[in-house]
Amino acid sequence: MDILKGEVTIERAARGKPHRGKVLAVIAPHSDDVPFFCGGAVAKLIQEGYTGYLIRVTNDEKDSYGITMGETVLGNERDTREVARILGLKQVFDLNYRNHRVDDVPRTEFRGRLILLFRLLKVDTVFSFDPWGHYEENPDHYVTAQMVEAACWMAGCRMDLPEQQAAGLKPHAVSEKYYWARGPQLVSRVVDISPYIDLKMKAGCANVTQIGNMVHSLKDRLAAQGKKLPILEADDETAIRQFLEVFLVGEAAKVGQAYGLKYAEQFHYIGPDPSIAEYVDKHAVPLK
Ligand SMILES: [Zn+2]
Repeated sequence: MDILKGEVTIERAARGKPHRGKVLAVIAPHSDDVPFFCGGAVAKLIQEGYTGYLIRVTNDEKDSYGITMGETVLGNERDTREVARILGLKQVFDLNYRNHRVDDVPRTEFRGRLILLFRLLKVDTVFSFDPWGHYEENPDHYVTAQMVEAACWMAGCRMDLPEQQAAGLKPHAVSEKYYWARGPQLVSRVVDISPYIDLKMKAGCANVTQIGNMVHSLKDRLAAQGKKLPILEADDETAIRQFLEVFLVGEAAKVGQAYGLKYAEQFHYIGPDPSIAEYVDKHAVPLK
């Protein structure tokens, strides 16, 4: 049996603001993870009433081209704020762990910071890497995925980090999860992002430091093989845009095509546990 082929729900545009009062958080190891993997879906849910926050795990210190590490940190910090602004995310929390070294971070500390933020912001829904995605090579990605998954339920436990409750925070579990992956994963939800493809693209273009690195590194690799790509032979802004038209918009079109949609993003979606809710719906009676 192919365990990666389950039932897929298509999430389409909703009328009005059905998600008003709900809170989402994107937990992204790196700034450019946001436009590539979830920018369209996040823009959609915010437009439909969610309040959104961005938790960036690393300082992205190793992702730039031709500038110093200090300049890289500042460039990516600024780009991240612009990505958040474009998508309608209300605030950015930079955890600022060192790039490519998240596997060196004490996991209970990282998890504790997420638990605090989930309780403080009363997060209902998260977007992050799939802890069960296959063949992920980047420790920033797979460690973040595992810490998010654990923090989602632990944030609801009364006896975890009781000092946070003494500071006024109440236990608050996360109930919905949209997980993305670079490799094979169990896809259970496909979000139609056709109305939001321009915002996804705009957010991608705001990641100038990181996408600029992708463009120039690719040009260098090709030049070493005696080749070039005509779409990259332009000024930086144009080259970045043309690169993203192929590798960001083009990818969203490929995902959409498989489901009869113009543009889509796909996720391993995990909703509230129905086993207790169904029994409660049937059998609960008023307290008095
Ligand atoms: Zn990443």
